[in-house]
Amino acid sequence: MIREPSALNVARRRTELTLAAEERVDVLVIGGGITGVGVALDAASRGLTVTLIEAEDLAFGTSRFSSKLVHGGLRYLATGDFATARESAHERHLLMTSIAPHLIHPLGQLLPFSQTVTLRQRVAGTVGMGLGDVLRMRAHTPRRVLPAPAVVSARTAMRLMPALDQRGLRGGMLAYDGQLVDDARLVTTVARTAAALGARILTRVRALSLRADGASVEEATTGERFEIRARAVVNATGVWAGALDPSITVRPSRGTHIVLDAADLGAPSTALTVPHEGSISRYVFALPQAHGRLIVGLTDEDSPGAVPRVAQPTETEIEFLLHSLNRVLATAVRRDQVRGAFAGLRPLVDSGTDSTADISRRHLVAASESGFISVLGGKLTTYRRMAEDAVDLAVTTRSLPSSRQSRTASLRLADRDVPSSDELLDEATALTAAEVEYAVRVEGAMTVDDVLDRRTRIGLVDADRARCRPVVESVVARAVSALL
Ligand SMILES: Cc1cc2nc3c(=O)[nH]c(=O)nc-3n(C[C@H](O)[C@H](O)[C@H](O)COP(=O)(O)OP(=O)(O)OC[C@H]3O[C@@H](n4cnc5c(N)ncnc54)[C@H](O)[C@@H]3O)c2cc1C
Repeated sequence: MIREPSALNVARRRTELTLAAEERVDVLVIGGGITGVGVALDAASRGLTVTLIEAEDLAFGTSRFSSKLVHGGLRYLATGDFATARESAHERHLLMTSIAPHLIHPLGQLLPFSQTVTLRQRVAGTVGMGLGDVLRMRAHTPRRVLPAPAVVSARTAMRLMPALDQRGLRGGMLAYDGQLVDDARLVTTVARTAAALGARILTRVRALSLRADGASVEEATTGERFEIRARAVVNATGVWAGALDPSITVRPSRGTHIVLDAADLGAPSTALTVPHEGSISRYVFALPQAHGRLIVGLTDEDSPGAVPRVAQPTETEIEFLLHSLNRVLATAVRRDQVRGAFAGLRPLVDSGTDSTADISRRHLVAASESGFISVLGGKLTTYRRMAEDAVDLAVTTRSLPSSRQSRTASLRLADRDVPSSDELLDEATALTAAEVEYAVRVEGAMTVDDVLDRRTRIGLVDADRARCRPVVESVVARAVSALL
């Protein structure tokens, strides 16, 4: 068994499950998305004792279906929301310079001045990217971390994005933002960092009901029910928050991406930014990913009714994304070239507006009538600040020890040291046995789905998933039995 303090695995889970039922902790966190693991880390960094429960697996909800960008907050300026824009740029700065430079790199984003991009859209894009650089400067993010935006020639635009339609191309605007190696990886890494500070991270434990001083819970593999006692309880269940806190009305908005082979766009290392037809504030992005993939997103669709376990993209959204992308390409990407599609639900707090695109992306932190705290909204980028606000409120409303402040602004997240291995399990995705074993021994994976869908992102393409499944299943079984 791995002794590394940040290691999450079935053996540690078994021990800590027993302790969770016996001992009262300072903070019980419900939900293992980015918000919940952020709260667990913040509380543990203050020296508080913490248990986090997650009904399924780490990053099971919205946090694995994002665009994987660490935003500078530019999009909030378009709606005049300066506070959120500044907060986003500040958090991006902390993440890229001290908290997680090993998980985020700068990504160039090209707005092409194509025939189909109007003069108004070009001006709006250029001014916006310039303002984005002002946000970068105000956050003190150095240019070596995020290079300056620049107008580029048609030749450079073609070099960066070889699939562009050259006819009538008048160059473009190139600007930089942060890109995560993977959103689910960020969640797992924050969870491991919290675990290294003593937090108990328990997946497959569902909260049935919450109180100010604890929760009734159910362990999913046995169906066993028990109580967890805590001085403070934080509900960080995203789009599911209303099920545990009836005072909250969540208005989920679905965002869909499609997955393409990067080779279909000439294997770019830069992202492409295409304005929605007729809009100067909304865009479709084509974002290069690992292993020769590229994701194109995203939509913003009201998704009323019961919250599904996993949201599904619609054919209309897929067609819309292809249509928007194809407006600037020399050769249109066809529907049969789409290798996969995925959708996530934004946990927006209902504010009574007509369109979900108009609802504030700022987070909500509030104490419920029964005394527990709910935290939702926000972004992956701002998870640290959301978590700090939630724990601050818990400290004041629940009289927790307040001698120590949050340390997360300068706390570097855990490293990931997968030993190199020559046992290649799948050539196309470069998956090795060492990677799967590491997922089970250190990153808390318990099943083949955890590995395919959240520790790696092989599952985003159905064909890759089906091909890798049998071999991954046997390596997971071997690694789990070695731990027990
Ligand atoms: C399409 C899309 C693209 C986005 N792109 C970006 C981006 O590029 N950059 C960015 O910064 N932000 C982005 N966001 C926003 C960001 O992804 C979300 O704000 C964030 O992931 C929400 O995290 P969360 O932890 O609050 O919710 P979730 O990730 O949904 O986590 C909630 C967790 O609670 C668990 N849970 C639910 N009920 C219970 C229960 N009863 N007991 C125990 N556990 C429970 C769920 O299983 C789930 O794992 C995007 C959002 C969407 C939808």
